[in-house]
Amino acid sequence: PVPVLAVVGRPNVGKSTLVNRILGRREAVVQDIPGVTRDRVSYDAEWNGRAFTVVDTGGWDPDARGLAERIKAQAEIAVGLADAVLFVVDASIGITDADEAVVRVLRKSGKPVVLTANKVDDERAEIEAYGLWNLGLGEPHVVSALHGRGSGDLLDAVLEVL
Ligand code: GDP
Ligand code: MG
Repeated sequence: PVPVLAVVGRPNVGKSTLVNRILGRREAVVQDIPGVTRDRVSYDAEWNGRAFTVVDTGGWDPDARGLAERIKAQAEIAVGLADAVLFVVDASIGITDADEAVVRVLRKSGKPVVLTANKVDDERAEIEAYGLWNLGLGEPHVVSALHGRGSGDLLDAVLEVL
């Protein structure tokens, strides 16, 4: 079986945009993982000749009460299924309570985590990502999922831990 990369993070940080970026021009193959709901959708991906499954997560209402708890529960399921985790934060906003809830799940899991600082659309915005070193999850990989900036380096880092 190919390794599984789960993409987790609070709503609106750009997880799905990043998944599309990872999939590139390939036709995404949507497949259901047995026993789980549409909260997680998995796709066949490939980088540098290596195949892996990328799991996009979501499916909750960003305005729901108890959002951090819901995100935490979802992250626990997705991380449990994964060999490695792509943790996405929005560098233009910084860390929120919901992000912190996910960080606790990641720490507990012991799974390899690649920290992704998304929405770094230009060089000027890179400074906003430096504070993410404080999360203790290693180097924040700065990307713009929207424009593709940094996505190749990010995938290289993913393959190192997957
Ligand atoms: P998700 O809820 O984490 O899956 O986030 P989405 O992928 O749906 O993106 C949420 C919003 O952020 C959308 O309006 C995206 O266009 C926007 N977005 C995603 N990535 C970037 C980025 O790199 N830069 C900017 N400026 N916006 C982005
Ligand atoms: Mg999404």
